[in-house]
Amino acid sequence: MTAAPRIAVVGSGIIGASIAWNLSRAGAAVTVFDAGKRGGIATPASFAWINASWGNPEPYFRLREQAMMEWRILDRDVPGLQINWCGGLIWDLPPEELHAFAKQHSSWGYGIREVTRSEIENLEPNLKSPPEFAYHVPEEGMVEPLATALAMLAGAEAHGATILENCNIKWLGEDHGRVTGVQTHEGFFHADETVIAAGTGSAELLASIGLSLELAKPMGLLAHSKPAGELLRGLVMSPELHVRQTAEGRLVAGTDFTGATANGKLDEAAAALNAKVQAMVAGAEHIELDFFTAGERPTPADGFPVIGRPDNRPGLYLAVTHSGVTLAPAIGVMTAAELLQGDRDSLLLPYHPERLLRPAA
Ligand SMILES: Cc1cc2nc3c(=O)[nH]c(=O)nc-3n(C[C@H](O)[C@H](O)[C@H](O)COP(=O)(O)OP(=O)(O)OC[C@H]3O[C@@H](n4cnc5c(N)ncnc54)[C@H](O)[C@@H]3O)c2cc1C
Repeated sequence: MTAAPRIAVVGSGIIGASIAWNLSRAGAAVTVFDAGKRGGIATPASFAWINASWGNPEPYFRLREQAMMEWRILDRDVPGLQINWCGGLIWDLPPEELHAFAKQHSSWGYGIREVTRSEIENLEPNLKSPPEFAYHVPEEGMVEPLATALAMLAGAEAHGATILENCNIKWLGEDHGRVTGVQTHEGFFHADETVIAAGTGSAELLASIGLSLELAKPMGLLAHSKPAGELLRGLVMSPELHVRQTAEGRLVAGTDFTGATANGKLDEAAAALNAKVQAMVAGAEHIELDFFTAGERPTPADGFPVIGRPDNRPGLYLAVTHSGVTLAPAIGVMTAAELLQGDRDSLLLPYHPERLLRPAA
């Protein structure tokens, strides 16, 4: 009998959690390291809209579509997930662009349909000024991102994974070009494979083995109201505001699907977002802002995921991406298949890390 491969996963956000869940249930000996608490940094600050919406070329659309399908499988397999397949109502583009997006995505098989004002009123009765038309995608959904990552980590633990919190990885170990594990404050942890799912911290780790990853970190702001009774049924993407209601009744709003940067005055920007929600949603007029979250989005420089093995660095695998909430289940499944069986999913072919890696200066 061959021993289970020993795999170190750096990062316990939604990407590391999904990878750990898939690897551990396939029999790998998984240890997850996180510099902070389990659940990630970008992950708890995410709007968490699961979608394959506008702005994506077809190969990326296909990956996102596959991820949406994988969410449904995860929903069945991971105890405690709360995925709300509430659908998304969208009119956040100028009309011509909106029609063109819908036509293109519909031709790709996305379940998107035009809805009139009276249909919008049925879908979202509390919108004060519904537009003349919008598009509706019933198959889009949302999750509570931190709770979802925690559920996947708990599932991984149930399959034997170890999750280490407050365990900063200082550097990656290397021997004749092979990555051999990670350096913790307690010593060196040897691994057959090391997966970097460290979000915005990934570039710093790669620098420790002489690699520079082109990674942007745009900030996104979300305003979270105090809990209220049901005011919204689904995701609402208007030109002024993207807003959804969480499982506990909070209205969460940002100005585009990734949030907004706000000249440093985050509390004022969050208050302004909440005021827009109050103006948009009947019944929300007196719902106060409770808190805001501001998170850096781990965004590879060309905007697409970085998933796979860098050239000439056996023992190393990278999983760094924006839209990580949408993509997490697919990345978990595909990473496990590549690490354990050597099968690279064809949907990942455009996202080889090498395109954004350079020797560190
Ligand atoms: C405002 C906002 C809105 C968003 N909206 C959406 C959306 O609607 N839909 C969508 O799909 N995506 C959205 N995203 C993007 C999505 O949230 C991220 O892509 C995803 O959360 C990334 O997950 P991650 O696990 O890679 O990173 P993280 O959650 O940041 O986790 C990385 C973890 O690595 C750890 N780490 C880093 N360095 C080290 C180290 N040296 N040693 C040990 N641990 C380390 C960190 O402590 C952290 O816990 C949004 C993001 C933001 C900020």
